[in-house]
Parts: sequence; structure tokens; C-alpha cells
Amino acid sequence: MQYIEPAPITDKENPLESMMSRFDAAVKILGISDEMYYILKVPAKQVIVGLPVTLDNGKVEVFEGYRVIHSTILGPGKGGIRFDPHVTLDEVRALAAWMTWKCAVVDIPYGGAKGGIACNPRQMSAGEIERLMRAYTLAMIDIFGQDKDIPAPDMGTGPREMAWLMDEYARAKGMTTQAVVTGKPLVLGGSLGRTEATGRGVMVSALAAMDKLKLNPYRSTAAVQGFGNVGSHAANLLTEKGVKIHGISDISGAYYNSNGIDIQKAMAYRDANGGTLEGFKEAELIGGEELLTLPVDLLVPAAMEDVITKSNASKIQAKLIVEGANGPTSAKADDIINEKGIMVVPDILANAGGVTVSYFEWVQNRIGYKWTLDRINRRCDRSMKDAFSNVFEISQKHNVSLRLAAYILAIDKVATTYKFRGGYG
Ligand code: GLU
Repeated sequence: MQYIEPAPITDKENPLESMMSRFDAAVKILGISDEMYYILKVPAKQVIVGLPVTLDNGKVEVFEGYRVIHSTILGPGKGGIRFDPHVTLDEVRALAAWMTWKCAVVDIPYGGAKGGIACNPRQMSAGEIERLMRAYTLAMIDIFGQDKDIPAPDMGTGPREMAWLMDEYARAKGMTTQAVVTGKPLVLGGSLGRTEATGRGVMVSALAAMDKLKLNPYRSTAAVQGFGNVGSHAANLLTEKGVKIHGISDISGAYYNSNGIDIQKAMAYRDANGGTLEGFKEAELIGGEELLTLPVDLLVPAAMEDVITKSNASKIQAKLIVEGANGPTSAKADDIINEKGIMVVPDILANAGGVTVSYFEWVQNRIGYKWTLDRINRRCDRSMKDAFSNVFEISQKHNVSLRLAAYILAIDKVATTYKFRGGYG
């Protein structure tokens, strides 16, 4: 029997510290009490499980799985499940808190949660992943629930894993509850538009910010880091709006073309090429770090946390950063970026399109009805635009960055709701 040791918690700008430093700054401006500070800071529930799974070679491996429900003040916990070899409890804690603030920013009735399993899905067969997902679901059977905690996809998971989760939950409970999980395949009650939703929200918030900066999309250029579900759809939708994508990247490398990259071609290439851009010939291969510092108007980090750091922030040339990933900019990099006068549409606003359409999926499941794609896109766009204006207004009022403004909006909303509900003591 083999035990996969989760990655150690390092002190290198860890995402929890990054999240907390922004939280602290917003709390100071809001002037909330010490009691409320701890109510909002400490996660409501943290679960760690050991998951023995039989591999295809007959050996049993034990994986460590987490689920953190940061808050249920605005509603049931909501947030994805991440499969990644480097998942740590601290990372999941940060991601869960970000979900709380994100749901508050776009005004949907959810608290925040996140799950993670330290595993490498790229080196596992479909059968092994299915057994792992089912084991995780059973371990969390009393945690999940359509009114308690509603999981969804995140890095390393997608509709296929959500289908297994829904099925395992249905078997254990003896009834089907579609609304227990979102991001499902369409046939199982998934929503139209959910796949593209995060990328779509990135595009909508990028255009709203470009409008403020007087950048004409038809004369603007962009670089997109990450070519998964978020980055590729964001790049594709930005292209539709006239923006030229000069650079894209994924785990295989970064690709640059000063005439603009044909994103549809890149997506088709990736899909036919086992999911990566390896060997993509329509652009020049450049370094990953170079992609972040290209002379473009817009930079969309849509891969993972902590990629814009204190060591590369000063080299960024973009006028606007729109965060498709969760936590791509470390807190220390924030100061440098702000000093340079670069506008940042923060993650908890920019990538909220995904959870917004997750909410629409949950609503459709509960009313037993399917909305058209047009209705979903219209509602998601409206919600993203409203959230952007609200955050922008707060940033003007307090003379702070959009990031701090988004935290102020979210923390104020959750704290006010808590007071109305009435707490202990
Ligand atoms: N994992 C996505 C996020 O970080 C979506 C979460 C959801 O739809 O619940 O926003």
C-alpha cells in the first residue's frame, strides 16, 4: 500500500496569506469589529479524508482529500473540486474563502467552499479517476447536499467527474438529486453555457474595463496564460469582440504570433492533440515568463495561482490584467502593479461567470426546467456588468484598487447578512 504525501505547506507567498492580506486591508477600511473579523475569517467546516483506491495494477493507493466550507452565511457552500498533485489544505482554504467573496460580489445566494484531492489525473486512467471520485463523494456524503454544499468542477476536473459524483450521491441516498452538483454534462441536468461561462465572464469584464480605459477592442492586443476551459474560451470570445490574441500558453509552452493567433484553430489543434498545444506551428515558441511580459494591452492569467509575483510584476507591460484564474497575482505583486498604474479586474469578479452559470444550473435543476442559451448568456452578462459597475463605484468612492473594492463589497455584504441573521453570543 502506498501513501501519496501531499506537497508541504511552504512559506512562499502562499495563497492563503495572499487572500488574508487583502481581507485584512478591506476589513480595515470597513472598520468591522474584531468579533466579526474572526467570524468571517475562520472556515465554518474543514474536512480531511484518506481515500484508498485500487489502481489498475491491483495495488491500493491512499489519496488525501479535502473539503473546506468557508462560509454559509449567504447560503449553502459552493465551489469546485480540484485534482492536482500539489493541492494543500491551505490552498483549499484560500480557494474556499475566495468562493465566499466571489458569490457575494455577483450577488448569488451561496456561501463559499472548495474541495481538493492531491493526485495527478494526467497519470491516472479514467477508471482510477472514477473510483477516486466515487470514494471522495462517499466520504463527503454528509457534507454535500443541494442546500448544504454544492460542488462543481475546478482545475483537473470537469463534467465527467461531476456525473460520477452525482451518480454516487444518488446511489448512496437512494434518489437522484441533480442540484447536488453543478457543471454536469447536459444530459444529466447540466446547463447550456456552463462550459464557456467563466471565459465569457472574463470577456465581459475585460470589455467593461477596456471601456473605462478607453481601449478600443478592435485596436487592442492580448496575451492569455492557460489554454484550458477558462483561457481558451476567454481568448475565443475576446477574438470575437475584435481583440487580437498575440500570445497563448499551456503546460506544453507559450506561443507567440505578432499577427494574432487563430484561436479556433488552436482549440481544434489542442483537442486533436491529446489536450495540449505541444507542437502548435501557427506561432513561435517562447518562454512562459515572456508571455506574461509581452507588449500587449491586456493580460489574462487563466492558469493557476501565484504566477504574477514580486519578481516579474515590474516587467509587465499590459495596461489591463483580467484574472481568469483564482489568485494568479500574489499580494506582494499587487503593490508593484498598482504603482505602475495597471488596472486589475480581480479574480473574485473577473472569473465569477462560472459560478454564476452554476447557480443558473442549480436553479434549473430545482425548477425542473431548461433555459435557452440566449437567456443564460444574457443573464450572465448582465450580472457580470452589474458586478463590475458596483465594484468600480466602490473603488472610486474609497480611492482603492478594483481588488480592494471587490473585497469591500463582498465582506460588507456577508457581515451585514450575518448581523440580520443574528449570531451566537
Ligand atoms: N471552480 C469554479 C470557480 O473557482 C466554479 C465553481 C462553481 O461553479 O461552483 O469559480
